[in-house]
Amino acid sequence: MIKLNDLYFKPFISEAEIDAAVQKMVDDVAKDLQDEVPVFIGILNGSFMFVSDFVKKYPKPCEVTFIKLASYEGIKSSEDIQRLIGLTQDLSGRKVVILEDIIDSGNTLEEVHRIFKNENVGELKIATLFYKPEAYKKDFRLHYVGLEIPNKFIVGYGLDYNGLGRDLPEIYQLKTTQHMTNLVLFGPPGAGKGTQA
Ligand code: 5GP
Ligand code: MG
Ligand code: MG
Repeated sequence: MIKLNDLYFKPFISEAEIDAAVQKMVDDVAKDLQDEVPVFIGILNGSFMFVSDFVKKYPKPCEVTFIKLASYEGIKSSEDIQRLIGLTQDLSGRKVVILEDIIDSGNTLEEVHRIFKNENVGELKIATLFYKPEAYKKDFRLHYVGLEIPNKFIVGYGLDYNGLGRDLPEIYQLKTTQHMTNLVLFGPPGAGKGTQA
């Protein structure tokens, strides 16, 4: 078990399991794209480790770049997505594959689609290492998914809790107490807002 700031996390997904999931995604993408030179676009910060491992395994020439979006506050997703670094290169006609660390509510993915709407890309595909189906609220297709996970907060392998944990080579899951579960499901006492994402 590890402690980051005020919260405890337990080991959840090993380095070997992550490695196998990344390799499978690389194989699937490489097979689909054949001899096109793709542009892989990572969403910073969370995807940096995934993108690094992914492109090292990718068997053919490719381009790699990043955009930077931010949504999460602490352990909760937010609908207010900030664009911190945008696109800097012409992508018209190119095969673009978005590399995301994790898709939760889908709000960030919606912003990604907004960003690419007027870019005239040849093809836009979405690849995410982790996916929380119980939390996903959108209809955008996810073309490549590494691992489906339950709707619980994780850290490691690029993912942080208040800035900590990105450097961990494996994934840890938040250890929730009954008190915290109630807070997430029902909000603080007297909030009266019912369930929230
Ligand atoms: P969404 O917009 O789909 O709700 O969330 C997408 C972004 O929120 C991810 O790219 C990631 O940066 C962050 N995020 C979502 N779920 C988790 C999680 O369980 N742990 C951490 N550390 N970040 C998450
Ligand atoms: Mg992300
Ligand atoms: Mg974060």
